[in-house]
Amino acid sequence: MRRPLVVGNWKMNGTRSSAEALAKGILVGLGDDVADIAVCVPYVFLPEIAQIVNNTRLGVGAQNVADKPSGAFTGEVSAAMLKEFGCKYALVGHSERRTYYGDTDQIVAARFCQAQEQGIIPILCIGETLSEREQDKTFDVITTQLDAVVNLAGIGAFGNAVIAYEPVWAIGTGLTATDDQAQEAHRFIRNYLAAKDQTVAENIQILYGGSVKPDNAKGLFAMPDIDGGLIGGASLDAESFLKIYNSVN
Ligand code: PEP
Repeated sequence: MRRPLVVGNWKMNGTRSSAEALAKGILVGLGDDVADIAVCVPYVFLPEIAQIVNNTRLGVGAQNVADKPSGAFTGEVSAAMLKEFGCKYALVGHSERRTYYGDTDQIVAARFCQAQEQGIIPILCIGETLSEREQDKTFDVITTQLDAVVNLAGIGAFGNAVIAYEPVWAIGTGLTATDDQAQEAHRFIRNYLAAKDQTVAENIQILYGGSVKPDNAKGLFAMPDIDGGLIGGASLDAESFLKIYNSVN
């Protein structure tokens, strides 16, 4: 039985004090233990947020991780550094990194491996653009994105990873995939993994991301292959984020 997971992605938002207030607001409102929960925060807020959530059910994660272990890579933050500050998760391959910062499938795969080497759970973000969907290429894109990680890390690595299916056209746009569209993609991802390793496929948490809000979360989370969500905009408000968290069944 897979345990649901709800992860907030704060992106490049907030100030030191608003970030602190948001983390505390989530902790105060966190009721029943219905799912795993975490927030992926900007790097500079990590030490403070990690301290606030220490010994609570709220995990902390980063929004990226370097594809190299250490060295002359100005501006990067290594997995070892993240680990030192209590990071449980790291997003890799978020579409904003792929689109604006040139993260290729190969770089994303290297980031995935670096996270795992330090015991950080990578949350691998994959998904198609609108034009790819319109050209009926959704499954090809997902396959290519997954292949890159499987080729570098091996299928076994997905035994300790999370996948977030995030159709690019739904991220930050207010457009959400329908429950059936999302389920279809999640089923495809799970079948892809099952063809290589049945146990990995059955156990991995596959999150949906793309304009999840309190009013659409329940329907999405009720689908059999959707194990929770990666939440952007709606995770910046403790009440909305907690409503989404409480929508898992
Ligand atoms: C995201 O950042 O991963 C995301 C899904 O954003 P939003 O919920 O705002 O679409």
